[in-house]
Amino acid sequence: MMYDYLVVGSGLFGAVFAHEAKANGKSVLVIDKRPNVAGNVYTENVEGINVHVYGAHIFHTNDKRVWDYITQFAEFNRFTNSPVANYKGELYSLPFNMYTFNKMWGVVTPEEAEAKINEQRGEITGTPRNLEEQAISLVGRDIFEKLIKGYTEKQWGRDCKELPSFIIKRLPVRLTFDNNYFNALYQGIPVGGYTKMVENLLDGIEVRLNTDYLANKAEFDALAKKVVYTGPIDAYFGYRLGYLEYRSVRFENELLDKPNFQGNAAVNYTDRETPWTRIIEHKWFEFGKDAQGNDLPKTVISREYSSEWKPGDEPYYPVNDEKNGQLYEQYRQLAEKESNIIFGGRLGQYKYFDMDQVIAEALKCCDSELM
Ligand code: FAD
Ligand code: UDP
Repeated sequence: MMYDYLVVGSGLFGAVFAHEAKANGKSVLVIDKRPNVAGNVYTENVEGINVHVYGAHIFHTNDKRVWDYITQFAEFNRFTNSPVANYKGELYSLPFNMYTFNKMWGVVTPEEAEAKINEQRGEITGTPRNLEEQAISLVGRDIFEKLIKGYTEKQWGRDCKELPSFIIKRLPVRLTFDNNYFNALYQGIPVGGYTKMVENLLDGIEVRLNTDYLANKAEFDALAKKVVYTGPIDAYFGYRLGYLEYRSVRFENELLDKPNFQGNAAVNYTDRETPWTRIIEHKWFEFGKDAQGNDLPKTVISREYSSEWKPGDEPYYPVNDEKNGQLYEQYRQLAEKESNIIFGGRLGQYKYFDMDQVIAEALKCCDSELM
């Protein structure tokens, strides 16, 4: 049979597009090379705990259209992300707020904190040219040294002077006692896990797993009038202009026979020496309870290690610096010349999108494609 759309990738972009296409009367086939749907938001139940297999995912958005859309497919709990930073055994609140400043400097009032930051940011004159300068001009050198430098260099494998400043502008800086990591009107974790939410999006749609599009491209192209491709754009073109850079992540998971390992969903290890960037304790995304509201006797933790992507690894984070931006632009021009294909999502568009942005992009794509 000839499908209207072949959707490559069952992550959020692919699942939203597929759902909308079906709702508009189109026939859709979704394929994914992984053994599971949901892309990077895939969760797996272990001993009653929804484990975020490809890294911790907290849904947050200010976009009411996206919130109203996604809540049709899952109920969200009231989880608020408040990671703790562990710097050589000293614990600090994140994001940077009055609790952090009090612990760092002993300051008590917002005026005192502001004065301390102003005193330290003075070393940066002019517009910050990189992540290091941006960080110091936001929160001063002490916080940069203890809570940013080591973590960022581990996560990105690059010196803070060689990273773009926008990466750090994602984090709020507050002169209030507020540990909410996100400035978002809506935030939470889908009750029952992300996999269930994506399965709801894909309800009634044919999905083939363990199926790599690029391994049999011509055969798959012949199956549909149009392709929606959410894999890496450079892989699509056989890397013919060179490799775009990605950061990859490796997780070491452990099931522990104790109810509480670290007392929080996320603890960031912000020194340079600890080899992992953070430890996730998955049960706390759902307050340590199972689906029936019972306390869980065991716990699952994941140590997260960041590494440079090499062919064969799972690409996670696009490295949106100038060099890669230019190469992406060349690939984008090639993509424009292809017919009957749409490139979407974090890898297809090579952009550091959050989940809500990916959903917004997918809905935008549906608006122009399906209406
Ligand atoms: P993906 O989820 O990557 O889906 C792409 C799919 O395409 C994959 O399933 C892949 O297997 C498939 N595919 C690729 N190539 C092929 C091929 N050749 N053939 C067949 N299938 C193929 N966002 C938030 O909002 N909050 C968070 O807390 C958050 N935390 C994150 C933590 C980590 C560690 C990472 C890496 C990302 C995080 N994100 C977070 C971002 C979020 O994961 C993405 O925005 C979103 O999942 C991207 O969806 P996508 O559909 O574009 O891509
Ligand atoms: N960051 C940091 N220390 C922390 C947490 C984050 O320096 O404890 C920096 C780091 O450079 C990171 C950026 O802030 O890349 C953005 O953090 P965020 O948590 O948004 O990254 P994510 O893992 O969600 O992409």
